[in-house]
Amino acid sequence: MTQIRIGSGIDVHAFGEGIPMFLCGVQVESPIGFIAHSDGDVAIHALCDALLGALALGDIGHLFPDTDPAFKGIDSRKLLAEVMRRVRAEGYELVNADLTICLQTPKVAPYILRFRQSLAEVCGVDVNQISVKATTTEHLGFVGRKEGCLVHATVLVEKA
Ligand code: MG
Repeated sequence: MTQIRIGSGIDVHAFGEGIPMFLCGVQVESPIGFIAHSDGDVAIHALCDALLGALALGDIGHLFPDTDPAFKGIDSRKLLAEVMRRVRAEGYELVNADLTICLQTPKVAPYILRFRQSLAEVCGVDVNQISVKATTTEHLGFVGRKEGCLVHATVLVEKA
């Protein structure tokens, strides 16, 4: 395989009342969270799919099926750690990741640095290698109607 490879990932989760909201491994203060088999961390799931995509290793649904009780309510940081282990097992290192969180509410701007630090810690890289951005969709579409959240992630990996 070539020395440098790119990957992209997208994940979507619907909002549910009275569920703790996790993004990038950080609990966000919110009356709504994400309906999911795992802890619903839509940002980590998008990042996992980007990493797996970079090395054509499949996707998160194939690795950690939502029909498997072992993954019920699981801390998605564990899924990301396992994905990073697989990336390194292929002889690659994460160069950088760039995430865009599309979310109408709640406002996550105050959490951005913590999001980056959390992902960097799990991935075992420097915080400067992880970018997290957030945007609303100007009240358009399912994000704008506050029905859920979409996260897009792009990564670059390089042969170690
Ligand atoms: Mg997901």
